[in-house]
Amino acid sequence: MNQPEIAISVTNLKRTFGKVQAVKDVSFDIRRGSVTGFIGANGAGKTTTMRMLATLEQPDAGEIRICGIDAIADPNAVRARIGWVPDDFGRYEFLTIWEYLDFFARAFDFKGQERRNRVAEVLSFTGLVELQERSIDKLSKGQGQRLCLARALLHDPEILLLDEPAAGLDPKARIELKNLIRILGQEGKTLLISSHILTELAEMCSDMLFIDAGKVIHHGSADSLKRGTHAKLIYNVETSTPPEDLATWATLNPGIELIETHSRGVRLAIEEGDVSLISDTLRRMLNEGHQVVEFRREERRLEDAFVDLIGKLEGSREEQD
Ligand code: ATP
Repeated sequence: MNQPEIAISVTNLKRTFGKVQAVKDVSFDIRRGSVTGFIGANGAGKTTTMRMLATLEQPDAGEIRICGIDAIADPNAVRARIGWVPDDFGRYEFLTIWEYLDFFARAFDFKGQERRNRVAEVLSFTGLVELQERSIDKLSKGQGQRLCLARALLHDPEILLLDEPAAGLDPKARIELKNLIRILGQEGKTLLISSHILTELAEMCSDMLFIDAGKVIHHGSADSLKRGTHAKLIYNVETSTPPEDLATWATLNPGIELIETHSRGVRLAIEEGDVSLISDTLRRMLNEGHQVVEFRREERRLEDAFVDLIGKLEGSREEQD
């Protein structure tokens, strides 16, 4: 079988600002046509990595290949293939949406009717047709984000790099953004989308790339991450007695791990054994006076997988110390 085609290939990438090692030694390959969530805490190195992919920042060391092209040796060829959506963008306040897109379409060397058609297409795709005469300084955050996406799509790039696109958007604007990303994914574009909020990306992404302190800590499909590598089942338990009591009980019982306490109960991870272990856990809870009103098996969430990953990482760091 042929290897899947690689859209973005990064090898041993490093970038330091003064004493800060923003990107320590990052390597990954992104499959063509995948929608990859690039997840990491604030300061993990996401923006620096993406700016290097977008040819806006030079790495200190390492290699970047976009559609096979060396991004350091031939940045112009790479720019033709990528659309960059930064978390904030220069607004050119005195322009309308249409003027702004027309300006960038000229910069991409579209001419005459072809230029007008292209601007009309991206306006329509991003739902901005009715706002095209509006001045850019009058746009909401969500409208601004769509304009930024429209600009990035003008030259119909194969790859889109979106840095924290959902940050600061209200729920309606998030849904609109999610729909646009889904359509772009279905069109076969390769998307790399950063966020420090895992749930923002969970529904959109086929793949997940986790970065922590300038290093990749996991890269794989979202489904395999949710399935996990270890045998623990997740249960949501709701009680009419105080959830904190059940939380304390859980921490005192071997084989049961408290994931979180919520307003109506707790979420627990229980070692997978034979089924009798599960029914035994429920029986012990009831025998010890916890009024369980619901005991329900749940899908592993991406957040659970992430917490596991970070836990393993911290464990291995402690072993090294
Ligand atoms: P966030 O989610 O907060 O945007 P991030 O994962 O995108 O974070 P980066 O913006 O890449 O992280 O920053 C990584 C580290 O490099 C941080 O410690 C940051 O302060 C530092 N850094 C980034 N850019 C610069 C710069 N131009 N000058 C100095 N330090 C920088």
